[in-house]
Amino acid sequence: MTTNTELFSRAQSLMPGGVNSPVRAFGSVGGTPAFMVKADGPLLWDAAGKEYVDLVCSWGPMLLGHQHPAVIKAVHEAVDAGLSFGTSTPKESELAGYITSRVPTVEKVRMVSTGTEATMTAIRLARGYTGRNLIVKFAGCYHGHSDGLLAAAGSGVATLALPGSAGVTEAQASETLVLPYNDAAALEEAFNTHGDKIAAVITESAPCNMGVVEPAEGFNATIRRLTTEHGALMILDEVLTGFRLSEAGYFGLVQDENWAPDIFTFGKVIGGGMPAAALAGRAEVMDFLAPLGPVYQAGTLSGNPVAMAAGAATLANATAEVYEHINSRSAQLQEQIAQALNAAGVNHSIQSVGSLFSVAFGTAENGVRNYADAQNQEVFRYNAFFHSMLEQGVYLPPSVFEAWFVSSSHDDAAMDRIYAALPAAAQAAAAA
Ligand code: PMP
Repeated sequence: MTTNTELFSRAQSLMPGGVNSPVRAFGSVGGTPAFMVKADGPLLWDAAGKEYVDLVCSWGPMLLGHQHPAVIKAVHEAVDAGLSFGTSTPKESELAGYITSRVPTVEKVRMVSTGTEATMTAIRLARGYTGRNLIVKFAGCYHGHSDGLLAAAGSGVATLALPGSAGVTEAQASETLVLPYNDAAALEEAFNTHGDKIAAVITESAPCNMGVVEPAEGFNATIRRLTTEHGALMILDEVLTGFRLSEAGYFGLVQDENWAPDIFTFGKVIGGGMPAAALAGRAEVMDFLAPLGPVYQAGTLSGNPVAMAAGAATLANATAEVYEHINSRSAQLQEQIAQALNAAGVNHSIQSVGSLFSVAFGTAENGVRNYADAQNQEVFRYNAFFHSMLEQGVYLPPSVFEAWFVSSSHDDAAMDRIYAALPAAAQAAAAA
C-alpha cells in the first residue's frame, strides 16, 4: 500500500507544492495531505485505505453525496454517447432551463467551465454594458483567481496570508476598489467619490471564503440601491451558495426580489462534480454577450455534454427534501460542535448562513463580521482541531477560512461518527 507521505513527496517533485489548487497542500493546518482514491455517499478513502466521513464534499459540488445513482447513471449515458462535440447539445438547454425556472429574475444563462470564468466574464459583461472601468469588491470575498479579483481575496489567498498575488499588474489592481464587508457607509462613500466610473459591485451572496459571514441586515439591499442610483450593475456571486442553500440558492433563501442582482454567477452544484459553471441574468444584460452583443467570451469545453448531464441530474434530484435533510443535519452538527467546544472551554463562534457554516476561534464576543475579524482569530486552535478530526476519520476543510459542507447522503451513521470525534478535537483545540 502506498502511503500519503510517499505520494506527497512524488507529487511535490512533479507539481508546485504537490498540488493543483493551493489549499489542498495543507499549508495552513500543516502535515501531509491525504490522497483520496475513492468516494461513496458521505465517505472518502485515501490511498492508504483509511476511511473518512467527508465534510468538504469537493468544496461544495457534491450536494447529493458521492456517487449518487441518478447522477452516475446520467454521466454513464452521456459518456456512452461521446465526450465532447464542440457543438450545441440539448443538455445545455436542460440545465439552463433548471436555472431559469428556479432562480427568480434569471432569463438567460451562459455556461462556462469554472467559477473563475463565470465571475471574470460577469465583470467583462458589466464593463461592456456600462462602458465603465471600476469594479468594487469586498475584502475577504473570493471570486476565483482572475487578475482583477485577487485583491484582498479570501479562500487560499487568506489561508496563505497573501495581500493578493504577484503577477497582477498595478493597472489591473487599480481598477478594483476593495472595501470592508458589511460596511454600508464605506460603500456609500465609494459611490459618492467614484459613482460615475463604477461598472459593478461584485459580492458573495453570503461570504463563505473568510469562513462564513452573515450579511448584515439590509447590506445586499444597500448594494442594490446604490448600484441602481449610480447606473452600475450588481453581480451576486452564488458559485458556492447557488442551489446549495435552497432550491434557488441564497437568493431563494431570502426571497427578496427588491434587491435582485443584474448578474448571478453559479458553479459547484450546477456541475454535480464535473467542471461546469455559469453566469446568468436578465436577457437585456445577457444579450450583450457574443454572438448577439459586443462582449466576447467563448470556450472549447463550455457546456460539455458530460458536465451538463451531471449538473442536470443533480438539479433534478435536488428536491425540497434534500434541502430539509441538509438543513437539519447541519443544524444538529452545529449544536454538537458548540457543545463540545463549550465543554472544553474553547472560545469560539459558529458562523452560519442556512446550512453553510464554519467555526471561528477566539471570536465569541462579536463573531466574524468582516475580513479583519476573520484574520484576528486563533487560527492555531482550528489546526489542532482539524488534525484530531482527521486522525479520527473525519475530513474537514484544511483551512479555517473555508465553509463546511453537509450532503443529503450524510445519514445517522455518518453523523454519529462525526459527533463521536468532537470531544477529543475540542480538547485538542483547548490545549493548542
Ligand atoms: N466564487 C466563489 C464564491 C467561490 O467560492 C469560488 C471557489 N471556491 C469561486 C468563485 C471560483 O470557482 P472555481 O474554483 O470553480 O474557479
